[in-house]
Amino acid sequence: MPSSAFPAYRGAMRYRCLGCRKTHGIDELLYTCPACGEVLLLEDGNFDSLKKRPGREWRDLFDARATEKSTALRGIFRFYELTAPVLEEEDIVYLGEGDTPVIEASAALQKLVGRAFAYKNDGQNPSASFKDRGMACAFSYLKAMVRSRGWDEVLTVCASTGDTSAAAALYAAYVGGPIKSVVLLPQGKVTPQQLSQPLGSGATVLEVPGVFDDCMKVVEFLADRYRVALLNSKNSWRILGQESYAFEVAQWRDWETENLCLFVPIGNAGNVTAVLRGFLKLRALGIITALPRIFGVQSHHADPVYRYYAAPSGTRRYEPVTVSPSVAQAAMIGNPVSFPRVRALAEEYTAIAGERAFQVIQVTEQAIMDGMLLANRHGHIACTQGGECLAGLMAARDYGLIAEDEFSVLDSTAHALKFMDFQNLYFSDALPPEFGVTPDPALTNAPELLLSAAERAGMTEREFVLRSASEMARRLNLVSRAE
Ligand SMILES: *Cc1c(COP(=O)(O)O)cnc(C)c1O
Ligand SMILES: [Zn+2]
Repeated sequence: MPSSAFPAYRGAMRYRCLGCRKTHGIDELLYTCPACGEVLLLEDGNFDSLKKRPGREWRDLFDARATEKSTALRGIFRFYELTAPVLEEEDIVYLGEGDTPVIEASAALQKLVGRAFAYKNDGQNPSASFKDRGMACAFSYLKAMVRSRGWDEVLTVCASTGDTSAAAALYAAYVGGPIKSVVLLPQGKVTPQQLSQPLGSGATVLEVPGVFDDCMKVVEFLADRYRVALLNSKNSWRILGQESYAFEVAQWRDWETENLCLFVPIGNAGNVTAVLRGFLKLRALGIITALPRIFGVQSHHADPVYRYYAAPSGTRRYEPVTVSPSVAQAAMIGNPVSFPRVRALAEEYTAIAGERAFQVIQVTEQAIMDGMLLANRHGHIACTQGGECLAGLMAARDYGLIAEDEFSVLDSTAHALKFMDFQNLYFSDALPPEFGVTPDPALTNAPELLLSAAERAGMTEREFVLRSASEMARRLNLVSRAE
């Protein structure tokens, strides 16, 4: 439904190079600076004009938009002026992304962890991960280009640890027309659920042996030489859409961001880039006054960003790592494309809010699995990366980094169901030794058969019911009803 409330404001979007600081126009899809090859971010040349509106008016506007019926403003574009204010209403693709629920941890779990926290369930996005936030923005931009430039064929490509391809294929299938989707996956390194998603959406699914980093190199090479639209987070339109996560967390807190901590898993580092940037924008406009503290979390099997920040400032050197198998497979990346973005934004962030405002925590594979299962035994729907966030919170608590009066929001970046194979392997103690995970019997579970098919075969219906029910009563120590 079109809206009479669609914003009139239009920005002057341009790419900003994080290396040479040059700007580049948006009528071409750029991934790196044509002058120096560094990564880019999109900025609005008119952003300062937004500061004329006082913070409280912005808060009221975004609160009022939370009841908006227009599809264009229901999702991530509730925050249109801060996102991509060059898109027209007709360009905006909305598949129900954004506005995901924040679920306060159960009383028992908060007591066990000893800190107050909630999960933001980004697995409740349409393709069941946060990647949809970025894709909604990237595809809206592509649609605008198709309309304004008359592009008659757009081949979208991405490398993926599973969720990027699921999201890209979904949005491409919906928009259709000249837009086609091709995804490149590391063979056997995405879950069966994730593989089923681009297949079901009708994308061309290509695989190579290796890990995500290998696939990324291939699509980067391809995008430099052929006419394709790259949909990895190297594409800055994705980052813009993902900033909505930060806006929603602030809004959920009624814009009170004092004593607030966020835990975000880091893979290719696009998500943590967007979170840092989102809060910086809110603060620049006076919509919030305090920057929340951001904790990036990495597995010890894929931790280049952790290693960088673990060194004292002044001696830090970035080096890609070779990854080992990780249950946080969606974040199993040794050379994150967005690392230069994180470094630049973290510098800006900590200059305002102090060194403690951005930290990276390293956790073990064991803690990630245990964290996911513990969360889900308390009514959450955390994926392994969501488990990684809980492991990060518990580690931060142990290191004395989180005070008792601080509240944490943990990013469950995907739906638990996408990663059930890791749960099954844990339950049956069948995770390959490279993971280094031993099941905790208190967290495992398995179905129990009440009677075998052979036993049932010879029974009447009545015998079957009697036998099954009495077997259940015996195992559960049920007390008979008084006559
Ligand atoms: C992509 C992804 C990540 C990692 O996010 P980056 O932006 O690459 O750092 C974490 N969890 C899930 C479920 C993902 O799909
Ligand atoms: Zn440059």
